[in-house]
Amino acid sequence: MQFNLLDSVKNGFKFSCQKCGKCCTGKGEGQIFIYKPDVERLFKRFNCDSESKKIEFAREHFDTTSQKFVLREKDTQHIKYYHFDTLVIKVIGNEENCSFLENGNICTIYDARPFQCVAYPLWRILVTNQKNWNENAQKCKGINRKKGDYFSKEEILKKLKEEYRLEKEFFLEMKKHDFEIEKIYRFLKGS
Ligand code: SF4
Ligand code: SF4
Repeated sequence: MQFNLLDSVKNGFKFSCQKCGKCCTGKGEGQIFIYKPDVERLFKRFNCDSESKKIEFAREHFDTTSQKFVLREKDTQHIKYYHFDTLVIKVIGNEENCSFLENGNICTIYDARPFQCVAYPLWRILVTNQKNWNENAQKCKGINRKKGDYFSKEEILKKLKEEYRLEKEFFLEMKKHDFEIEKIYRFLKGS
């Protein structure tokens, strides 16, 4: 998988989170994809060791949304598009806050937060798309500060590869299960 990084990040990037919580709230913004390792980590953290506890937790914190997955077939230019449900964190209230957000800027699961939260803003849809990057920079004051933690090009690419790996793993599992998400996450049947 090739990634065409934006000029502003391709030679490394400094980022300093201001802990404002803006990326955890707002229409479509607090909706964070959750991959299987995230689910397992959260269930462990909240002692969801039975099906009924998992169902209860999922009812409170998980949701599904439709995702588009683009697959370029090996050795061809043929591109296939798939649309299927994926797991996200539930958003709540008029503000559409992530259900783990407290007092506007406190993440109550900080140590166990999903991969997407840890990786932000090093997401493929941001660091390879100028329009998305600019829009996020308007909201996230950590992006253009040009100070803070330094991420080299190699570290950025490593995050993007990990993101792609998680997405692809989920896609392949969904394909194996006829794109029915409840077959993978049985706890959703009770949600
Ligand atoms: S919007 Fe940016 S600065 Fe604010 S909490 Fe999110 S990552 Fe940090
Ligand atoms: S899990 Fe935490 S860091 Fe991620 S969106 Fe929710 S409150 Fe923000």
